[in-house]
Amino acid sequence: MMKRTKLVYTLVLLLPFLITYESQAQRTCGTDIYHAKCMEDERFAKQFDTAQKVLHANIDFLKKSACNDPILIPVAVHFNGNIDDSDPTCLINKSFQQIEVMNADFGAYNFEIISFLELANACPDTYAAEVLSQGSCIQFYLASKNHPDCQAASDLIGGFAITVGKHSWPNASDCWSGYLNIFVENDLDHLGLAPLFGGLNPNGNGIQIAAGAFGGIGSSCTSGVPLDSNVPFHLGRTGTHEAGHYFGLRHVFEGCGNADQIEDTPDQEESNTGSPLVDFSDCISDAINSCGSQDFFFSFLDYVDDASMWIFTDDQCQVMEQTAMMGAFLSDKGSPIVRSKYQFEFVDINNNPITLPEETKIIFHVNTQTDTLSPVDLFLENSLVYPSPYIPPLQDLKISFYNDTNVTHSLSALDLLAIQKHILNIQPFTNPFQSLAADTNNSGSLSALDLLDVQKVLLAINPAFAGKASYSFYFENCSNCQILTLPAPDGSVQNIKVTVVKNGNVN
Ligand SMILES: [Zn+2]
Repeated sequence: MMKRTKLVYTLVLLLPFLITYESQAQRTCGTDIYHAKCMEDERFAKQFDTAQKVLHANIDFLKKSACNDPILIPVAVHFNGNIDDSDPTCLINKSFQQIEVMNADFGAYNFEIISFLELANACPDTYAAEVLSQGSCIQFYLASKNHPDCQAASDLIGGFAITVGKHSWPNASDCWSGYLNIFVENDLDHLGLAPLFGGLNPNGNGIQIAAGAFGGIGSSCTSGVPLDSNVPFHLGRTGTHEAGHYFGLRHVFEGCGNADQIEDTPDQEESNTGSPLVDFSDCISDAINSCGSQDFFFSFLDYVDDASMWIFTDDQCQVMEQTAMMGAFLSDKGSPIVRSKYQFEFVDINNNPITLPEETKIIFHVNTQTDTLSPVDLFLENSLVYPSPYIPPLQDLKISFYNDTNVTHSLSALDLLAIQKHILNIQPFTNPFQSLAADTNNSGSLSALDLLDVQKVLLAINPAFAGKASYSFYFENCSNCQILTLPAPDGSVQNIKVTVVKNGNVN
């Protein structure tokens, strides 16, 4: 069975998706050539090797990285070439989106992590789940205050650290040292380029991204030239890839013999392109698979299409974090987005942990609108990060669950008997969830009508209950309400307990 491990959600909640097809080409990154050229300078080469040794010596690769306080990286974006300021909203939105994609990828809450977990589940010997990072400790934000004095305020678009036609790669001068500078240009012969380990010394340097590959969420927009229009490189992964170089990662295809200097990535001699597939029956992929091992083609540091780039490994994250920590990045340049990880616990009416019933949908309520997504695609081990590129920050976001499948599941004559005994007061229910489960016509009280309703479903006379879906979901956080206003993110892990009631089932 040949299976694309996952169709990637282009999503996204409340953001209509529209792509203008511009060009389809192979990914190209100028970092290797640039780095080789830098290394021709003996002094640079010596300093580089020393710095890299010091950095690696500071890392305990046997220890899984954990993050308490994020390393905050202020970002400035410099547009050049034919990009102009005719649509400032476009420039601002694409800058925010690019940073959001990088945050999701660096924080390991991008959708496609699910694809890797599926792969690791099906093929644990080839693709070990343990290599996946818990998310690096690096968080990016678009600088919005305390801008450098050396840049006139009138040069900045919308009050953000965004300039047009002022600075070009490789350096935005001392003025922008302490920032990660992103230089966006059109008419490049590559998608991106970064100084390897540039983050060790953020002296106004930064990464270069082609206009068509800059952004990553929602539709393309044009300010002089189209941004984010280069399918299949329109999901912002060029930024993730180049930032990876900037914080010390080499391509995963540097060669056999651990040439990328990262232990938990397999050796790889050639780059992969497109969207490789894995055959789950024998765990062999149709990637190139050089050096006698199965390639991590889904690495952010390979050359595949944006949608097929899914992960950093734990060792990669440790190198990036150490680089970011040793670099002198400025603080107090704006407001990083505060997130929370919401950890869901599902229990049955007797408070025993259960897994969420199959085909359950999660519903987002925004004002009077609702949007339905399948939790299997949203949840990573029953957790959800908010806000994220897929769930943008919203005022009073409400959620609920819905499942109207398998209505006869776990129903039996014993349930009918128990409901009857309760109605006749022979043996009243002791658990309030029993009453909720039995009130299938949703009248607010129990009567012979409910008994009849359950009986008709059990006998397949009716395909569904008169007043309720197959399952109901009650949130403990709001005294067992069925629609929860998601607690405001506060940077911590927040627990949400959900009682899953199979309606009609009182036993
Ligand atoms: Zn590269």
